[in-house]
Amino acid sequence: MRKPQPVYIALGTNIGDRALNLQTAKNWLSRKAIITRESSVYITPPWGYTNQPDFFNQVIEVNTRLGPRSLLRFLQRIERKMGRVKLILNGPRVIDLDILFYGDRMITSPNLQIPHPRMVGRAFVLVPLNEIAPDLVHPALGISVQQMLTDVDTEGVIRL
Ligand code: ADP
Ligand code: MG
Repeated sequence: MRKPQPVYIALGTNIGDRALNLQTAKNWLSRKAIITRESSVYITPPWGYTNQPDFFNQVIEVNTRLGPRSLLRFLQRIERKMGRVKLILNGPRVIDLDILFYGDRMITSPNLQIPHPRMVGRAFVLVPLNEIAPDLVHPALGISVQQMLTDVDTEGVIRL
């Protein structure tokens, strides 16, 4: 059996009790993954559709025996259980769970891209990720998280 590779997951929430939503999602995740590292929680202004509450964002490192596709399905099940309904693109959500990296795997299928393509340039992902994995190298870009962060405006991403 293959050795599990470190997986990085981004969590975001801006509806209801945001701290509780992060905790609930991690509790669900723990059923099929071991959480090995957690960033601080950051409060960040909404992106895209800006007329909505601030987000709480966090990045965690996990070990799991689920492969990338099973993990995506599992995360989507957690999102549904927690009552996520999609009303507006980039709009408010109870919980958003994105796979940022799955070891050094690269996947480009219609419903799953790894590394997550929308991570690059997004301070609310890169700041917490940099806290727990600054030397992690993006397998396609060949640069570290720390290097990715140098081009990004981190103002507004406030550690709770
Ligand atoms: P976003 O996270 O971009 O705000 P959604 O959470 O609604 O939007 O995700 C939209 C789609 O992104 C999902 O249906 C999922 O299939 C796809 N997706 C592609 N790659 C990933 C990934 N690495 N992690 C999570 N979802 C992904
Ligand atoms: Mg998502």
